Amino acid sequence: MPVPTCRTVPLDRYLTPPDYPDWQSAAADAVRDPVELCRLLELPTSLAAVAQRAGDGFPLLVPRTYLSRIRVGDANDPLLLQILPREGELAISPRFTRDPIGEADSILPGGALWKYQNRVLMVTTGVCAVHCRFCFRRHFPYEEAVREARRWQNALERIAREASIHEVILSGGDPLSMSDQVLARLVERLDAIRHLRRLRVHTRQPVLIPQRVTRELVHLLRASRLTAIVVLHINHLAEIDRAVDSAIGQLVDAGIPILQQGVLLRGINDRLETLAELYERLVDLRVMPYYLHQLDRVAGAAHFEVPEEEGMRLIEQLRARLPGYAVPRLVREVAGAPNKVVLA
Ligand SMILES: *Cc1c(COP(=O)(O)O)cnc(C)c1O
Ligand code: SF4
Repeated sequence: MPVPTCRTVPLDRYLTPPDYPDWQSAAADAVRDPVELCRLLELPTSLAAVAQRAGDGFPLLVPRTYLSRIRVGDANDPLLLQILPREGELAISPRFTRDPIGEADSILPGGALWKYQNRVLMVTTGVCAVHCRFCFRRHFPYEEAVREARRWQNALERIAREASIHEVILSGGDPLSMSDQVLARLVERLDAIRHLRRLRVHTRQPVLIPQRVTRELVHLLRASRLTAIVVLHINHLAEIDRAVDSAIGQLVDAGIPILQQGVLLRGINDRLETLAELYERLVDLRVMPYYLHQLDRVAGAAHFEVPEEEGMRLIEQLRARLPGYAVPRLVREVAGAPNKVVLA
């Protein structure tokens, strides 16, 4: 028998997330201090100093359940890059603005966005379990839109008067950062609007804190008269650990269709291999890839942009490689367009 050579292959190391009694505790225990983040992940403290400055106004926020999927010591980890404020956020780029997709004009009283026929997007809360650095809602006037005494009342009244609206999309922030009780009350009121047929939930929460998929949540989505559809925001295969896998399984087993959307991000998921393995894994989990978004040009996110032509080429290559149903549509939000514009 040959003696194995003593080559030291460094093993990937990951943190173990604490055991939380419930998802609210996981959310409350999120890491907010860049110094702590760098200490935990064994990263140079110089990164923390930059993060402190770059995160001004939209600070670092990451739950430990997500942190545990980031490789210790790897400053280029694709999950780390999504949550760590970097120098690029301070860069001023004239094409990147605070309201890149002209949403300010479509806000109804009560914080609903009515841009497209047949469906309306309800901004339920400004809260998320994480602060994604590329988020196009980072400058959204949540305070004005959401903190109204009768915040939903106005939106619900408006929706009730508009018979052409068949679908309400709960968005945010993240609607699943609200408690099951609050959600249940909202769903009940939507249920009562007779012309509504579907309820869509746009969320990233099951990826951040998989415990958020409670039995109550599954039940409240299934018990509604409205057909519930969940659209999950996932950008990288490494975001799916066993707990996420099982949270997804609970929703799908209950008969709730899950679609996936992601953002094409430079240095994170802009390679064919990376996208192919993500989409293949998703369909294995019975999640259907729906949209791959070209980055919205929001101030502070220019360093994440991948050129449109490159996105289109990636989609062509994916089409040649995967079953048709495993390839999402590459879309871009264009102010004033009647729908999201499909690029490929
Ligand atoms: C993306 C979006 C929708 C949903 O569009 P679909 O193409 O149906 O997924 C609805 N309203 C707003 C404001 C949106 O940004
Ligand atoms: S979860 Fe969604 S809304 Fe929240 S910060 Fe990330 S991209 Fe923005």
